This record gives sequence, C-alpha cells and structure tokens, in this order.
Amino acid sequence: MIYRKYYGICQICGTEISYEEMTIDHIIPLEAGGKNELANYQCACRTCNRMKGTMMQDEYYMHITEVFWYLTEKKCGKEFTEKLYRLIQNL
Ligand SMILES: [Zn+2]
Repeated sequence: MIYRKYYGICQICGTEISYEEMTIDHIIPLEAGGKNELANYQCACRTCNRMKGTMMQDEYYMHITEVFWYLTEKKCGKEFTEKLYRLIQNL
C-alpha cells in the first residue's frame, strides 16, 4: 500500500526504487511522538531511511545541506563556496 501510494518514489531523495529496495520511514519519528499508523508512513530508500534516522525530514535536509557545504569547502576551498553561496542567493 505504501509503495503504491508513493509510486515507488523515495519521499526523501526522490529516487525511483524497486519494491525490494523500499523501506518504510516514519514521517514523524517514533522518538518524536510519531505513531505506528498508515498516515505516518512513507516510502524511502534504505540509504535515506538509515541516514535520516530519528530526525524530522526538514532537520535531515538541513543536516545534509551542512554536509554538502562542508565537503564543498573542503574540496574546492572557501573562495569557491563563498562564490557559490552568493550565486545561489541571487537566483
Ligand atoms: Zn532516498
């Protein structure tokens, strides 16, 4: 039911996944008071579900954004990330 409801799309990264690859993610984690009920389930790939862990989805997106900026600066330097940040701000 969950797989069909979300057309086999991971609701965290947007990747199309097979039924075998699907995991069921708690939209509101149990640790945050979420319930074990259909309305709180979404289709997620294993990688996203494992990495999201007990975070809320917005919190997870903020976290991976911080990881992106950290790794980009580490790989390309502070000047590049500052230029990229300014470019994004002007979109
Ligand atoms: Zn995913």
